[in-house]
Amino acid sequence: MGPVKRGKKKDGEYNEGMKNDKYLILVNKTHPMDEKYLESIELLPAENAEKEIITAEKHTLEAFLKLKKDMEEKGLRINIVSGYRSREEQESLLQELEEENGREYAETYGALPGYSEHETGLAIDVEYDLLFGDLVMSYNPVFAEYGFIQRYPEGKEHVTGYPPEGWHLRYVGKEHAETIEKRKVTLEEYLEERAENCTFLE
Ligand SMILES: [Zn+2]
Repeated sequence: MGPVKRGKKKDGEYNEGMKNDKYLILVNKTHPMDEKYLESIELLPAENAEKEIITAEKHTLEAFLKLKKDMEEKGLRINIVSGYRSREEQESLLQELEEENGREYAETYGALPGYSEHETGLAIDVEYDLLFGDLVMSYNPVFAEYGFIQRYPEGKEHVTGYPPEGWHLRYVGKEHAETIEKRKVTLEEYLEERAENCTFLE
């Protein structure tokens, strides 16, 4: 990452923000999810285009439904194909992936149980009309407006540990999403920057 700009925030302000902001939870190939996290969120179901019931965290789902409605008004389609997954569901998904494509593929594209962002309820997989030209695999201001980031953007594989996944959106809330989108950082880089700001001010 580039040079970190030291903020002029008051002591502890970033720390407080992090602690209180459950939408900034980091789950990746090196940060497993503590299942206690689920106690702090509310999961809600919604029906998708295939009439399947998809579950996601309340604000994540509400933001998606608002995005969907606004897109539909412009004659564009966006559909949710995956949301919250329990640890058991992640386990069987990974097994399927391995059986079909081998272990290496499964470990690259999949996540071990406990290490999938889908277990937080804040990650959704979507399919959509090519609304935004070639922005599919990269940062997207439209998604950011609704609080979503492209979690695994092109060119950040070395940070996220994942090949680009244009369909995988992660809810972090509008404010964070717009900052992340503008600065073209990953969630990992964004959190690191905030943490460094904290250390500096202590
Ligand atoms: Zn996903």
